[in-house]
Amino acid sequence: MINQNVYRYGATRSRIRDLFEYGLRQAAIVGRENVFDFSLGNPSIPAPEKVKQTIRKLLEGDPLAIHGYTPAAGAMEARQAIARDLCRRTGKTIRPENIFFTCGAAPALTSCLLALAVEDSELLILAPYFPEYKAYAHNAHMKVVEVPADTEAFQIRIEEVEKRITPHTQAIIINSPNNPSGVIYSVETLTALAELLRRKSKEYGHPIYIIADEPYRELTYDGAKTPYIPGIYDDTLVCYSWSKSLSMPGERIGYVLVPDSCADSEILFAAIAGAARTLGHVCAPSLLQRVVAECVELRPDLRAYDENRMTLYNALTEMGYSCVKPTGAFYMLVRSPSGDAEEFCARAMEKNVLIVPTDSFGCPGFCRVSTCVSPDMIRRSLPKFREVAQSYGLCE
Ligand code: PLP
Repeated sequence: MINQNVYRYGATRSRIRDLFEYGLRQAAIVGRENVFDFSLGNPSIPAPEKVKQTIRKLLEGDPLAIHGYTPAAGAMEARQAIARDLCRRTGKTIRPENIFFTCGAAPALTSCLLALAVEDSELLILAPYFPEYKAYAHNAHMKVVEVPADTEAFQIRIEEVEKRITPHTQAIIINSPNNPSGVIYSVETLTALAELLRRKSKEYGHPIYIIADEPYRELTYDGAKTPYIPGIYDDTLVCYSWSKSLSMPGERIGYVLVPDSCADSEILFAAIAGAARTLGHVCAPSLLQRVVAECVELRPDLRAYDENRMTLYNALTEMGYSCVKPTGAFYMLVRSPSGDAEEFCARAMEKNVLIVPTDSFGCPGFCRVSTCVSPDMIRRSLPKFREVAQSYGLCE
């Protein structure tokens, strides 16, 4: 007998994976240079040189210390380095004891959800959302409640959030900069959300937590900054990783920040540690904890992403497509000219252009174009995008 609840997550592939694998098969037929794969969110710029140098340097040290277990929350010196950096950036007091190292943002999220999962608890997610949230919530036996997207500005529809808050609402996930829209929620939006959550927390007599999912925090353009949500709303947990900011998604390193301002912060921290333990967490990779501690001040060189973003945005807009201008992350939403994202995706596939319908992100009618790709591929793909636009009569 096999657990069917988890079987289905393993046996079915995501739409993104499907497209990526289709691209590999097509490449074998038409040649790699003729497939334009905009499906994945894999960083396309290498990790900074300092990351490599730090790994090399650390490997020369005591192997027992470097490769050994650390405490579950992480090595104290590494937690101190992260806390110091966060204090500097936010101007708030953040202690090493507030940081729990994880193997990336995904396990940070699963631990937070499990820590907050009480009987009948509900989790609000805002469309467009990262589809994996549903799997994480399912594992925690939390009921997922979706808030429909604001398909104009891609901010948060506060009145729609309000309609969906119940006495069982435990948390809301906020992903900004957002995958797939590339939009950063503004301070005004977050302040309005915070006011609503404070009012509802008071009404129901328990905190409603924000879980800030921030793997794209530093990936911002045009001078935009990602607001520090615990500075706006006390009951906020932050899930972070270096997967995107330092281009090391395969190394699996991130953390949960439980600020002191959070209601029941010490109990919550212990519950997150306990949740991680039940999920099989022992410690985050020991070498990588030290690497990020030494590289904590590094910021990504975003020029390549920025250029890709603007090339695609300008070219596709000029062809007549309606695009959501991203100011963060490395994705862009393009509205399906027919209103049907699957149909748009299929038409692009005929030209070997692979873009992801965002129906599974709770936002039908759009396709996601990843901008973390090679500039050369973008340049070569533009005539194909134009042919698709012409087939809809968007341009000559
Ligand atoms: N959250 C969002 C919105 C993501 O896009 C991703 C990865 O693509 C994750 C979480 C997981 O990130 P990590 O690789 O750090 O686990």
